[in-house]
This record gives sequence, structure tokens and C-alpha cells, in this order.
Amino acid sequence: MKNVYLDNNATTKIDDKVVEKMMPYLTENYANPSSMYDTAHVCANAIEEARVQVAEFLGVKNEKNIIFTSCATESANTAIKGVVNRCENKNCHIITTQVEHPCVLSVYENLEKKGCKATYVPVNENGELNIEYLLSKVTPETVLVSVMHANNETGAIYPVYDIAKEVKKINKDTKVFVDGVQAAGKIPIELEDTDIDFYSVSGHKFHAPKGVGVLYVKKGNLFEPLLLGGHQESSLRAGTQNTPYIVGLGEAARLAKENLTYELTEVKRLRDKLENGILSAVKNAKLNSKSKERVPNTTNIGFEYIEGELILLYLNELNINASSGSACTSGSLDPSHVLRAQKVPFTSLHGSIRFSLSRFTTEEEIDYAVKNVPEVIKKLARISPFQDELRALGL
Ligand code: PLP
Repeated sequence: MKNVYLDNNATTKIDDKVVEKMMPYLTENYANPSSMYDTAHVCANAIEEARVQVAEFLGVKNEKNIIFTSCATESANTAIKGVVNRCENKNCHIITTQVEHPCVLSVYENLEKKGCKATYVPVNENGELNIEYLLSKVTPETVLVSVMHANNETGAIYPVYDIAKEVKKINKDTKVFVDGVQAAGKIPIELEDTDIDFYSVSGHKFHAPKGVGVLYVKKGNLFEPLLLGGHQESSLRAGTQNTPYIVGLGEAARLAKENLTYELTEVKRLRDKLENGILSAVKNAKLNSKSKERVPNTTNIGFEYIEGELILLYLNELNINASSGSACTSGSLDPSHVLRAQKVPFTSLHGSIRFSLSRFTTEEEIDYAVKNVPEVIKKLARISPFQDELRALGL
């Protein structure tokens, strides 16, 4: 079997149509889009076309509210630091969740060291956010609330539109930033007429190349730019624009919008087939993706008394790519902060695996995974040091 790629929340294959659209801007159309001659205007126009495509993708009327960045990490840093750095009160209050991506959590921790007061909102055992707790913490000093739209490890969807609305009712000056990276291309996004001030997405999570991202900024929101220099992106993000990647992201956004129904039906069907297939065949498997609202492509399953890294190594031998619940982003073997926040028991915390599909995942690949993942778990159960516990589970 050729490679079975089930790690689409880490990154995605670039769609051939995206590559095709990018090619002229990697070859003959290389002018600096800010220059004053016709060949540069070709590039500038292509960037503006991509801006319109992204605005349509995010349900935004005015494409001028879209800023291109180098990645979603940059977008999150820009929004969070950009809001806090404008505050006169250096001890201002900021809120986020315990389950954010490190591109938000690390910035919060850094701001705490500089004097900000931060609140981290917990989730319940299903991975659902404690919204009452979040709202109870909003005060006149709260300058920013950051909540992700969908969680990268479990796929849990958070009700960001309602949260933004309720936050503004308590403090209309509190800004709301939403990390939309794992929602983009998987569920509909409609930012117009909402109370969300900033929203980030990343090209490489929906079949564009790595190294290009977006920050939506609702009109009227002032922030201190992260990168200062030229006047690109309305002086909000300096640096020569990466024309081919922006063009690729625009096309990927168009295709993601076009394929959304497929994502919500077919990708979900395949995800459910994989999830049910594994859960019914493996006695020590426990579902971690238990949130009522969930993106259609993700499942996270804990295998009790088995080491996650070993599962990945064995799956790799069979050409199945997945990812473990541990903090792979930091290269550490510590169990995932998301699953810990969800109070996943230690018996399956270290053996949790995320499988994430895309519109390129085939039925044949899912059948292969449904057949082979249980085999791998059974093999590993035989060499697990927890023989008594596994026997008690019927293995
Ligand atoms: N936010 C979430 C939820 C993510 O999953 C990721 C990437 O894994 C990022 C942000 C960072 O995106 P980028 O790689 O574009 O910096």
C-alpha cells in the first residue's frame, strides 16, 4: 500500500490546481508587486484577486479587511501583541483557553512575564469549553479574549460567534481574536456581522503551500503591527508580498469553499468509518474526540496501556501516517496539554493518536487503516508491561 496520509491537521497535500495557479508567479511573473510597471501590476492584481477569494471564503464583504502573513503563528502573534501593545495599562487582563495552540499560549505566557494578567479557561471531559466561566472573568480591564474555532488535536468546535457576542455585551471594548486554522475548509465560516475582531487561517491546512497565512481584521480595529517597514498590506504587515504563495492560498480558499459540502458529508463519513471501525475492533480504545460539535475530518483515540510513540512507529512501518497526542510541536514527550485539560485518564493519555483526513483521503485508505490499526494495537498489547490490566479489558 502506498502512503496512507492521516495527518491532515498537521499539514495537507498541495492541490494540483493550486500548483497550476501558482506556476506563472514562480516563473515569468516575478516582479515586485509594489513596483510601478505593467509586469508588477500583473502580480499586484493577482494578489488582489486572492484577497477577494479569501474574503469570500471567510464570509467577509470587504476584502480590504484581509491581510496576508507568512503563517498563522504570525497572524496570532500580530493580533494578540498588536492589541496588548496598544494598551496604556501594562497590567491589562487577557483571557484564553487551556487548549489553544502554542502560537497563542506561548504569547500569553510571554505577556504574563511582562505584567499582563491572564486567565486560562478550562474544558470539560468532552473537551467542551466552560463558557460561563469565561464570561464570568470578563472585566473592565479585559482587553482581549482569544478562543480557537476548532481544536487541532480533538477537532472540538467552540461557539466563537456566541462567545464574541456575549463578551461584547459585558465589555464592548474587549477585542476578540479567533484562531480559525483548524476550522478553515472544514466548516462554514461567516465573519461578516459578527463580533469577532481578528481571525487567523493558515494556507497549508487547506491544500495551499506552507509559509502563507491570513489575518482578518474587522474594520475599525486598531493594532500595533508586528512587522514595520514598507507600506505593504495597508501598512499593517510590512515585507514584500509572496505573490505565488498568496495566489496559491487564494485558489485553495476558492477550492475549499467549493468542496465544503463534500468535506461535511464524505470526509465525515470516512472519518466515522475509521473511528467506528477502530473502536469496535479494539477493546482498549477510548474516544477522546467527544465534543458534541466537531469538525468532520478529525478523530482522536486513546489506546489504554500502550505507548503512543510505539503505535506511530508501527503504523509508519505500514505506511500509515498519524500523530500522537503528545506535544509533537515542542519535540517533547510530555502528554498533550489538550488531553490533560480534558482530564483524559493517564491509562490512555500516553497512547492517544489523532487521525485527520482530507478530501483526498480515499475509501481504500480508510479500509486499510481500519484493518491495520487494530492489528498494530494487538501486537503492542502483547509486549505492553501492563499485561494484567490488558487481560482485565479482554485483550
Ligand atoms: N493554530 C492551530 C490551531 C494550528 O493547528 C496550527 C498549526 O498546527 C497553527 C495555529 C499554526 O499555523 P502555522 O503553521 O501556519 O503557523
